[in-house]
Amino acid sequence: MTAPPDLQTFEAVVIGAGPAGLTAATYLARFRRRVLVLDGGPSRAAWIPESHNTPGFPQGVRGADLLSRLRTQAQEFGAIIQAGRVEALEAIPTGFRLEAGGGRIEAATVLLATGVVDRLPGIPGLEAAIRSSLVRMCPICDAYEAIDSRIAILGDGPLAEREARFLRTYSQDVTVLQFGEATEESSPAVVSIGADDLKFDDQTIVLRRAGDVMARFDHLYLALGCAIQSDLAVSMGARQDETGSLLVDGHQMSSVEGLYAAGDVVRGLNQISVAAGEAAIAAAAMHNRLRGF
Ligand SMILES: Cc1cc2nc3c(=O)[nH]c(=O)nc-3n(C[C@H](O)[C@H](O)[C@H](O)COP(=O)(O)OP(=O)(O)OC[C@H]3O[C@@H](n4cnc5c(N)ncnc54)[C@H](O)[C@@H]3O)c2cc1C
Repeated sequence: MTAPPDLQTFEAVVIGAGPAGLTAATYLARFRRRVLVLDGGPSRAAWIPESHNTPGFPQGVRGADLLSRLRTQAQEFGAIIQAGRVEALEAIPTGFRLEAGGGRIEAATVLLATGVVDRLPGIPGLEAAIRSSLVRMCPICDAYEAIDSRIAILGDGPLAEREARFLRTYSQDVTVLQFGEATEESSPAVVSIGADDLKFDDQTIVLRRAGDVMARFDHLYLALGCAIQSDLAVSMGARQDETGSLLVDGHQMSSVEGLYAAGDVVRGLNQISVAAGEAAIAAAAMHNRLRGF
C-alpha cells in the first residue's frame, strides 16, 4: 500500500529547534537516520544577549549565533528542518502520527524538545531591556556578570525569595520586588510594586513612586516562572511533575514508549549544556531503539 500524498514518514521526528532539538538532530543525522526537525518558532536561547557559561565559548556567544551554528551543523549532516508547530501527537502501531501546519507526518520515534515559555510582566520597553542584559531571567546563567551590582528581583511568589538567596552570594545589594500585593509568606524586606512603577533608562532600572525615585538598580531579575511546553506528551499520558515538567528515565524516554524528551521541557536545570547532554543521550537511545536494541 502506498502512503497518501500529503503524508511524510521519518525514522525520527524532533519537535522544537532550540539547543536540545538541534543537537539531537545532528546526532540522529550522523547515525544516518532520516530525521525531521519541526521548528515552531523562536527558541528561548534567542533571548540570550551573550552567554558566558556555554562550553567552548570563553569570550561569550550570542544566543542567536549559537542557534545558527547548531542549525547549520544539523543540516550539514542531512537533518531536514521544517517550519511548523505540532498541533497533535498520537500513537499508531508503527510509532507516532503528528499534525503540523496542515500536513501529516509519521515517525517511528519522537523527541519532544519544546522547552518552556517565560512569564513576562507588561512593562514598556521590557524586550529591549532583556536584549541589552539589563533585565535577566536566569541567575545560574549570568549572576557572575552581576557581581557586586545593585540587583532587584521581580516575583509574585516564593521563587523570588529563593533567587534572592542565590543572588546574595554574588552581591550584598539585593532587593525583592513583589508584583502586586505582598503575601503572608513575603518577608518584611519585600517591596510591593505595580508594572508602572518600573522604568528602564539607558543603564539602569528606576523604581518610582508618585513621581519620586525610590531606588535604582543595575539589573532586574524576573522570577515569575514559566509555562512548560509539555502538553503534547501529557495529552498522550506522559508523566509530569507538579510543575508540568516531563519525567524521563535514564535514556530520556518519557513514560510513553518511544517518546523521548530533552532540554527545558524535562525536569532539571534549564541550561544549554544540559539540553545538549540530554539530547545526545536521547538521540543515542532513539537510534538503538530503531536498530532493535
Ligand atoms: C535571557 C535568557 C538568558 C539565558 N542565558 C543562558 C546562558 O547564558 N547559558 C545557558 O546555559 N542557558 C541560558 N538560558 C537558558 C537557555 O536558553 C535554555 O536552557 C535553552 O534554550 C533550552 O533549550 P531547549 O532546546 O530545551 O528549549 P528552547 O530553546 O526553548 O527551544 C524550544 C523550541 O521548541 C519550539 N516548540 C515549542 N512547542 C512546539 C510545537 N508544538 N511544535 C513545534 N515546535 C515547538 C519552540 O518554538 C522552540 O523553538 C537563558 C535563557 C534566557 C531566557
